[in-house]
Amino acid sequence: MYALRMSNLPPYLFARIDEMKAEQQKKGVDIIDLGVGDPDLATPPHIVESLCQAAKNPENHHYPSYVGMPAYRSAVADWYKQRFGVTLDAGKEVVALMGSKDGIAHIAEAFVNPGDYVLAPSPGYPVYRTGTLFAEGRVHEMPLTRKNNFIPVLADIPKDVAKNAKIIYINYPNNPTAAIAPDGFYREVVDFAADNDIVVVSDNAYSEIAFDGYRAPSFLETKGAMDVGIEMHSLSKTYNMTGWRIGMAVGNTEILAGLGRVKTNVDSGVFNAVQHAAITALRGSQDCVKEACAIYQERRDVLITGMRSLGFDVPTPKATFYVWVPVNDCMAFSAKLLNEAGIVATPGVGFGASGEGYVRFAITRPVARINEAIERMRRLNL
Ligand SMILES: *Cc1c(COP(=O)(O)O)cnc(C)c1O
Repeated sequence: MYALRMSNLPPYLFARIDEMKAEQQKKGVDIIDLGVGDPDLATPPHIVESLCQAAKNPENHHYPSYVGMPAYRSAVADWYKQRFGVTLDAGKEVVALMGSKDGIAHIAEAFVNPGDYVLAPSPGYPVYRTGTLFAEGRVHEMPLTRKNNFIPVLADIPKDVAKNAKIIYINYPNNPTAAIAPDGFYREVVDFAADNDIVVVSDNAYSEIAFDGYRAPSFLETKGAMDVGIEMHSLSKTYNMTGWRIGMAVGNTEILAGLGRVKTNVDSGVFNAVQHAAITALRGSQDCVKEACAIYQERRDVLITGMRSLGFDVPTPKATFYVWVPVNDCMAFSAKLLNEAGIVATPGVGFGASGEGYVRFAITRPVARINEAIERMRRLNL
């Protein structure tokens, strides 16, 4: 019944974990879910209020513009200027997205012919791969390993692959490894992309979730980046707005026009009232972001201290709300946590073959629950 390409789509691991979780819940187990990367914190009230007001205005009830309201695109451009020192032309270098997943899932359609390569990190956000498969491209995995500080080694990409690659995905601060981009990495990416005529797609969804004073850069800060790439960003993680579906693609005009042309044919833009709320988020006080980071930082410290006390060799992440923990067999480890301790953690292999040997904990639950998870793990004698 289904098309062939459906069989190429990876099994949706999160759906399988949900099934296992439901089985445990049916037995009455009190589940501690550290699996899914969705903040447990509420969207700040001033943003919610802005949506309520905008939703009452009939002017906002029509089809939105495909690329986003001018006022939203200006707010994005001003935020990029203020936050990263990157100058964007709001009219040509900013496109509204229904969350960054929208841009990531669709961009390959604009640039990839059947059989072309797409370079994607492994482990990595699964949509880099599925977007490529829908465009009938071939994924070349760039392994992120502890030895390489979870940074792809561009020199390891075979010349013939690089020559036939159309897109390279990079994602720092990184999901799932929580790694950050070292100085000089984006310079290397720009040169590599220019040499091989490859579109760079930087996924910067976690730039604002950072600790210990770390400030994540934008890929577009690097000289020449605007010539070769775009950045996908989103309000989802920054303002606890995962359910609202709003993000942005910014950068090279021609690349954005390709993405925009695909999107014009598959969706009709973001609800204007949501764009108004997003303007409030971007232009308003950023104290709410600081407060969220302080909460995540405390949870991070509780989790890594606890994991170390159990004998796990965990580095201290500088950004994202994930902790990437080395284990022996990730599937067996996750299954044991869920079935014997009621704890959900995501097996690394769900993010690609090079994720084997790790599980990802999302610190999207309160400190008391993280402490409870540590105590349950202590009783398991892992
Ligand atoms: C959450 C996430 C996204 C997408 O989030 P949206 O809600 O679609 O903006 C993109 N990339 C990574 C790495 C993520 O973790």
